[in-house]
Amino acid sequence: MTGEVLKKVLDEKRAAKRREEAAARERMNAALSLPDVAEAHREYINILHESLRYGGADRAERAELAHAAYVDALRAAGWSEEDFLPRISCEKCEDTGICDGRICDCVKKAFVRALGVACDISPKGFALSDFSADAIKGPQAERLASVYAKMCAYAKKFPDVNRNIIVCTGKTGTGKTMLAEALARTLIRRGHSAVMMSAVAFNSLMLKCHTSPYSEREGLLADVMSAELLVIDDLGTEPRYNNVTCEYLLMVIEERTSKGLSTMITTNLSPDRILRTYNERIYSRLFDKRRSVTLLFEGEDLRLN
Ligand SMILES: [Zn+2]
Repeated sequence: MTGEVLKKVLDEKRAAKRREEAAARERMNAALSLPDVAEAHREYINILHESLRYGGADRAERAELAHAAYVDALRAAGWSEEDFLPRISCEKCEDTGICDGRICDCVKKAFVRALGVACDISPKGFALSDFSADAIKGPQAERLASVYAKMCAYAKKFPDVNRNIIVCTGKTGTGKTMLAEALARTLIRRGHSAVMMSAVAFNSLMLKCHTSPYSEREGLLADVMSAELLVIDDLGTEPRYNNVTCEYLLMVIEERTSKGLSTMITTNLSPDRILRTYNERIYSRLFDKRRSVTLLFEGEDLRLN
């Protein structure tokens, strides 16, 4: 997903450069269509060629005078020579997208913007680093501060993380979704793709995939399977479809884990309820301590495995 977005951004950058070059040529053609400008230009080019071909101080001086006359004719018509150069939007890379052999900051910025659009999460807004424990009262402040610190460290290491599954469990209103969105936004700002969807939307997509022709399935699943972070928000609120809900959830988790992609799940269900609501295999994938981090959003014990 990130590769496709980057390619699109670079293609758009190149297309914009070509458009601007064409616009510059059009400006020049417009100026040269004026008889006075065309005449002064022709005169200047002739003398310039002569000067370059035969040399001599006299010819150089005449070329300079002819150039000045051409610039005057342009000015009289409301133009300057600079108008015929493509307008550059980035001085650093002169709109090539590459600066000192590396991708220029202008492309990085456009990439993050495009990634936000592709992931449907605006890069602007609450991110992990915006968390302040001072704004929260009570014992939850310390726990949340610890969770946010852990997730900041996770985001810093991303995508080279040891555990690819994060399960946030706790009652409604304890900040799980906010944390998930903050993590997704933080990763997008760093150039990683992050897709967030409600469990209901995820389940509907899986049903659509299940009932679609085989040839269309890959396209339907592309973002879910390729985003570097997938957040499934509020697991347990989705309706249950036989042969779909559990089967596709397991398939997505396993496939993503095997590719080293991270999956985050927020849920009001306790681990026990997840075992009873789904199945043993989903439970063991979600709570496998070698591969998953469990964040408990309430109670005395906030374990961060
Ligand atoms: Zn640039």
